[in-house]
Amino acid sequence: MVPVIDAFRCDGCGICVLRCPPQVMGTVKSIAVIITDLCEECGICAEVCPINAVRFRLPHRSYRSTDQAYKALPR
Ligand code: SF4
Ligand code: SF4
Repeated sequence: MVPVIDAFRCDGCGICVLRCPPQVMGTVKSIAVIITDLCEECGICAEVCPINAVRFRLPHRSYRSTDQAYKALPR
């Protein structure tokens, strides 16, 4: 599951940024952001957020379709 910041809810307190184990979070314009390619999906950012501004969603379907398209290429 991929974490997603609710930009309308996040107040930029930075707690999640400090607690993210691989340090793949930061803030831009006082809103938390995540480098999702490097996220370890530990869920700590969602646990520590005091106002429940972190949600989780499944990876976008295009990952699978891209992979299938790649495997279908002639070799
Ligand atoms: S799920 Fe874990 S690794 Fe990913 S952004 Fe949140 S705290 Fe960092
Ligand atoms: S802990 Fe929650 S409110 Fe604070 S910066 Fe992270 S997502 Fe935003």
